[in-house]
Amino acid sequence: MSKRVDITGKTFGNVLILEYLLTKNTHAMYKCKCILCNSFIVVSYSNLKSGNTKSCASCGQKTHGMSKHPLYHRWRVLKDRRNLSDDWKDPVKFISDVESTFKEKYSLRRVDNSKPHSLTNSFWTKPRTDSHKKCERVYFT
Ligand SMILES: [Zn+2]
Repeated sequence: MSKRVDITGKTFGNVLILEYLLTKNTHAMYKCKCILCNSFIVVSYSNLKSGNTKSCASCGQKTHGMSKHPLYHRWRVLKDRRNLSDDWKDPVKFISDVESTFKEKYSLRRVDNSKPHSLTNSFWTKPRTDSHKKCERVYFT
């Protein structure tokens, strides 16, 4: 007699349950799809129910769907350095503010290094070329 709950077709966070696979060490394992990136993952029911697993590993615990954005990594680095204004602690806000001016090789710098990165205290520098001694700056505001 199985106590297994049928959760096929339900979603937990960003995980869609496709089908029951097997029970491993008393944990019911399900084949699931991460709806952020459409990859298939195998997750135990207990991890889904507890909220431990809300997406595939590469999408992490994020629910904003920004983890694949080229600017998301930049944001993570700044966040780890604790160099962000309150506004920019939200990756969605940060990305929407700087996205329109961003180019792949730009670096984000601060106007005043004693203050955190914010919309008014940051600018992009274009990479140096041989013909330019000074870095060109691209401001957001
Ligand atoms: Zn994913």
